[in-house]
Amino acid sequence: MSDKRRALGQHFLRDRAVARAIVDLVAPASGDLVVEIGPGEGALTADLAGRAGRLIALEVDRALAVRLRERFSAVPTVEVLEADARTWDYGLLERPSGGRVLVVGNLPYSVSKPILMALVAAREVVDDMALMLQLEVAERLAAPPGGKVYGSLSVLTQLHCEARVAFRVPPGAFKPPPKVDSAVVHLTPLRAPRVLVGDEARFHAVVRAAFSQRRKMLGNAVAGGLALPVDLVRRAAEAVGIDPARRAETLTIEEFAALARSLAEVRARRA
Ligand code: SAM
Repeated sequence: MSDKRRALGQHFLRDRAVARAIVDLVAPASGDLVVEIGPGEGALTADLAGRAGRLIALEVDRALAVRLRERFSAVPTVEVLEADARTWDYGLLERPSGGRVLVVGNLPYSVSKPILMALVAAREVVDDMALMLQLEVAERLAAPPGGKVYGSLSVLTQLHCEARVAFRVPPGAFKPPPKVDSAVVHLTPLRAPRVLVGDEARFHAVVRAAFSQRRKMLGNAVAGGLALPVDLVRRAAEAVGIDPARRAETLTIEEFAALARSLAEVRARRA
């Protein structure tokens, strides 16, 4: 496998049953618009194009995009764009009247997290998603609090989406086979956040800081991550009934939101 193919995560799906199961998860209908991330050689594209009203495929590899565009040149409802799914402007999407916007993709694993964050940020225009990910990342997305798998990706995704690991996929389903197991995640954006967090950038910063040193006590981890005095962070946590000696992985999304709000209040009072 060339360095370029490895960097772009080009493991192409060869198992037709898996491809069909991915598409079935979001069940595109003729009124729907599908955005496919990283169509590659088109393992999912024909199924998606056959069922959806319109398909926009985002492929960063020019040669693959050109080949796929040629293959679908006679299908006016398919648009293949040479584009980076991390930075593409999902805000350009418009929900078809009476239809949905669906996102489907077998993601390049090396950049799956920035793509996921871009999709979560685009939640207002997205109705449903089926995404193939590295198993470990898929499990993180859907993890409940209380275990080692739960982390900032779980919190930041579940704030805005229902996340469920739908099924696992073994390396042999791809060519060349990846070194890791894979899983397909069903992600459904919520119409309102699970918890009102106020300033979302502030919430993100607190969550990331808390998990940046996950073996440390919450108070120390957040203080270290945000360069704040430990006593201030401890006071903010205690003010909302959170023991600062807990570990980040034990906090629910509601508790992270309360901590972020309390920290802002304590800091404002101190200023
Ligand atoms: N969907 C195909 C399949 O299932 O066989 C290909 C999946 S392959 C795991 C990932 C694809 O994403 C590759 O075609 C790769 O070129 C493309 N890709 C990699 N980085 C990308 C990015 N930032 N934006 C869009 N596509 C990307």
